[in-house]
Amino acid sequence: MDYTGMYYITYFDYVSFVIMLVLIISYYIIKHLNTFQNRVLKVMFYSHLIVIVMDIINVNAPKLHLPYLQQLLYGSHLCYFFMHSVTIFSFFLYCCCVTDEYGHGKRWLQILSCVPMAVAVGLMAINGWNGWIFRVDENLLYYRGPAILLIYGIVGVYVAFALVLISVYRKRISGLRQMVTYLYIFLCVVSAGIQYFYPQMLIESFGITVALMILFFTTAKFSDFYDENHKVLNKQAFLHIIDNSMNWMSVFCVIFIKVHDMQLYRITMGKEFQEGLITAMIRYLQTEFPEAEVFHYSNSQFVLRFDKYNGQKTVEKAIVSITKQFDGVWHVGDNEIRCSYHTGGFVCGNEEEIGNADKLKESLDYINDYSKGMENHILTLKDMKIGSVARSLLVQKLLQEAVDNNGFEMYYQPIYSVKERKVSSAEALIRLKNTEHGFVSPEEFIPIAEQNGMIMKIGEFAFRTVCEFIREYQPEQYGIEFVEVNLSVVQCMQEKLHRQLLDIMEEYGVSPEKINLEITETSEATRMDAFQANIYALREKGVSFSLDDYGTGYSNIGFLYKFPFEIVKIDKSLLWGAFENEKAMITLESSIELAKNLNLQVVVEGVENEEHRKKLEELGCEYLQGYYFSKPVSKGDFIQYVKEMV
Ligand code: C2E
Ligand code: MG
Ligand code: MG
Repeated sequence: MDYTGMYYITYFDYVSFVIMLVLIISYYIIKHLNTFQNRVLKVMFYSHLIVIVMDIINVNAPKLHLPYLQQLLYGSHLCYFFMHSVTIFSFFLYCCCVTDEYGHGKRWLQILSCVPMAVAVGLMAINGWNGWIFRVDENLLYYRGPAILLIYGIVGVYVAFALVLISVYRKRISGLRQMVTYLYIFLCVVSAGIQYFYPQMLIESFGITVALMILFFTTAKFSDFYDENHKVLNKQAFLHIIDNSMNWMSVFCVIFIKVHDMQLYRITMGKEFQEGLITAMIRYLQTEFPEAEVFHYSNSQFVLRFDKYNGQKTVEKAIVSITKQFDGVWHVGDNEIRCSYHTGGFVCGNEEEIGNADKLKESLDYINDYSKGMENHILTLKDMKIGSVARSLLVQKLLQEAVDNNGFEMYYQPIYSVKERKVSSAEALIRLKNTEHGFVSPEEFIPIAEQNGMIMKIGEFAFRTVCEFIREYQPEQYGIEFVEVNLSVVQCMQEKLHRQLLDIMEEYGVSPEKINLEITETSEATRMDAFQANIYALREKGVSFSLDDYGTGYSNIGFLYKFPFEIVKIDKSLLWGAFENEKAMITLESSIELAKNLNLQVVVEGVENEEHRKKLEELGCEYLQGYYFSKPVSKGDFIQYVKEMV
C-alpha cells in the first residue's frame, strides 16, 4: 500500500516529542532509586523518543531533496520498528519488576519470554532481502509486507503477557500501580487501534507518551526512600533495591556495620552528639566506598551494597578498611569517642550465601537485635546459625516446652553492700534449663514471652520459685535482707497482679519485706492506672521496688520520683561507658548523687573488676552487683557462696 501521498496529521508526534524530552530531563532531575525497574523505565523513555523521531522522519523526509533518501527512509522505518519492539518489551519487563515476578529463577521461562522479541529482531534483520515487513522503493513509496502482522502480533503477545502478570499477581502491587498499568495498556491499544483504521492520524506514539508520563509520575516518591536528616538512603530503599536485584538474579554483596550503645550515646552525650556521630559514620562510608550504595538501615546499623561483585574479595577488602576506621576514634564537635561495633558481609543473589531478599533482611535484623553478645568481632552467616524469624520460632518452641515441662530454673546473683562489707541481697534471674540449642539468654526470650503472653506463666513461676527458696533456705540467717525479682511491664499492667503475688507470698509464708520487685520503664507502659494500682497495693503491704536499668532506653527522672521506689539500679552500660568516656562518667556520678539526694539506695550492675569497684566506692555507691563478686548461680551455689562470705 502506498502511504506517501497521504496527508498525515503529525501534530501529535510533535507534542509527544516535547513531552518525552521533558520526561527524560525530569528523570535526571528528580532523584530516584537505582533499581532495575527504574532503569527499564529509562530505556522505555529513550526508545519511545526514538520511535517518535523516526515517525517524524518517515513522514517528512520524502518531501526533502536529499542524497540516499531511499536508504535513509529504509533505515528510519527499520529503526522505528525496532525501537517500537524495544519499548513494548521493556514494558513487559517493567511489569515483571512491579509484580516481583520473573520466573523466580526459572531460566527456561526467562528464555521463553525473550523468544517473540528474538523472532521480531530476526525478521527485521532479513527484511532488507525479502521485504517481508516493509519495503521502500526507488520512488520512496512505502509498502507493508505480510510479516507486518506478525510484528503487531508480537507486540500483542507482550501486551497479553503484561496483562496476565498484572492480573495474576495483582495482590503484590498497590491499587494505584495496578490501575496505571492497565491504563498504559488501554492507551496503547486504543491509540494503535485508531491509527490502524485511520493511518493518516499518527496518534499511536501520543497514546504511549501519555501512558509513560502517568507511569513516571505515579512511581514511588524518592522522599519515601531517603533519610533527609543524614542525607542517605533508608531501610525502605534498601529493601526495595534488594527485592529488585534478587529477582533479577544478579549477584552482589552486602556489608553491614552495627554500632552498639548508640542509644546510650544519646542519653549520655545528647541527641546532637549522637546525630553527629551517625552523620560522621555515613560520610566516611560514602567517601570510602563511592562504588557502593550506602543505607542507614536502623538507627545504629549501616549497610553497603556493592553492585559490581568480584568475589569474596570485595567483602574482605571492604571489611579491612571498615575495621581500620571503626577501631579508631570518631571526632564529633569537640568530643572524641571510640565505639564498639560488629561488621561482616554476605554474598547475595542466585544460589549464593543468601539467595532471597527475606533471608537477607532476617539476617540483618538479627544482627541489629542480637549481635551485642556475639563473640566474634567480624560476623559471618554461620555465627548467626539461623535467621531471626526462625530463631524467634525456635525460642517460642523452647519456651512452650519449658512452660509445659518445668524447664525453667532460678539463679541468684549476690548484691554486695559496701558499707557492711557483705552480701546483703540478691537478684533472682531466670534461666532456661540447658537445651540442646545452648544457652538462651533471658534478654532474648523474655521479650518473646512478653509478645506471646507466656510471660504471665513465666512470671508466676519465677515468683513462686523465689518464695519457695526463701522458705527453704531462710537466707536472712546469712544476712540476705531481701531477694529482688524482675517483673515485666506486661505483668505490671494486669489488674490482678498484686492479688496474685500477695497470695503466693501468703502460701509460702514469706513476709513482703523479703521481696523487692524490679521494674524497667518502657515506652509501652500504657495502662498506667493498673500499673500504679499494683505498685501502691504491694507497697502498702511492705514489698519494696527497684527501678531497673536506669540509664538505658526509656528511664527518665520523672518516673523516679512519681513512683515509690526504694532502689535505683544503674545499668551496666552506663558503668562501662564511664570508663571509656568522660561525659558518661559525669552522668554516672550525677546519677548516683541524684538518687542519693532523693533518698534512694543505689545499686550499680556490671561490676566486673577491681577498677570498677574502687571507682564506685569512691563515688559513694552503696551496693554493687556483678561478675567481680559472682555470676548468677543456682540456689545451692548461692547459699554456699554466702555461707563462705559469713
Ligand atoms: P537485669 O534485670 O538488668 O539483670 C541484670 C543482668 O546483668 C543479668 O543478665 C546479669 O546476669 C547481668 N550481669 C550482672 N552483672 C554482670 C557483669 O558484671 N557483667 C555482665 N556481662 N553481665 C552482668 P541476665 O540474667 O542475662 O538477664 C537479662 C535480663 O533478663 C535481666 O536484666 C532482666 O531484665 C531479664 N530477666 C531475667 N530474669 C527475669 C525474670 O525472672 N523475669 C523477668 N520479667 N525478666 C527477667
Ligand atoms: Mg533486674
Ligand atoms: Mg538491670
